[in-house]
Amino acid sequence: MIRRPPVKGIQIACPQCHKSTSQFPSNIKRGRRFCSHRCGEIASTTPLPVRFWSHATKTESCWNWNGAVYGNGYGKFGFSNTKTMSAHRVAWMLTYGHIPKRQCVLHRCDNRRCVNPSHLFLGSRRDNTQDALQKNRLAFGERIKTSKLTTLQVQEIRSRLDGHYGEYSHLGREYHVSPETVSLIAKNKIWKQALAQGVCQVSVEVADASR
Ligand SMILES: [Zn+2]
Ligand SMILES: [Zn+2]
Repeated sequence: MIRRPPVKGIQIACPQCHKSTSQFPSNIKRGRRFCSHRCGEIASTTPLPVRFWSHATKTESCWNWNGAVYGNGYGKFGFSNTKTMSAHRVAWMLTYGHIPKRQCVLHRCDNRRCVNPSHLFLGSRRDNTQDALQKNRLAFGERIKTSKLTTLQVQEIRSRLDGHYGEYSHLGREYHVSPETVSLIAKNKIWKQALAQGVCQVSVEVADASR
């Protein structure tokens, strides 16, 4: 008899209480990723705005997101069972409504965790880059025109897209690559080959700072 190795659980943070919880990958895929039945119930029965704002610690200036964060430092909100969104974007939507196409939600306060709607404003992708350059957030600045994605980041992008097409520009901004690059990654066009060859990194265009 062939013994299969036991499927290992993955440690993730419960989207409701943020406690670490071990979940099987198949369960995560099905949206079952809460530490307990109770947390799942709270998440499914609490109105979204209530749930969202419960993760914000309000100070006199910034309202700091105390929930999960993306690797890039922006707050991460479990919008639905399978979809996460940047917390500051959700804060904008809950306060002002729909985010117009191709618009970024930018911070006046340069605090990526901040979800205070009065610290947020709309801008283009270009504004975002200019803004970041002005605030010296892009470490590579104007000198280097290309950036490298790592295998890990590509896997991250693919898993985050997971059927949610149309988030290319959003993800592109986060990873400092063009939406076209994200789109190509999503369609397995550029990284398929690179992965097959065992190449870990490719040069990609950086979200154009000079444009
Ligand atoms: Zn929990
Ligand atoms: Zn702020």
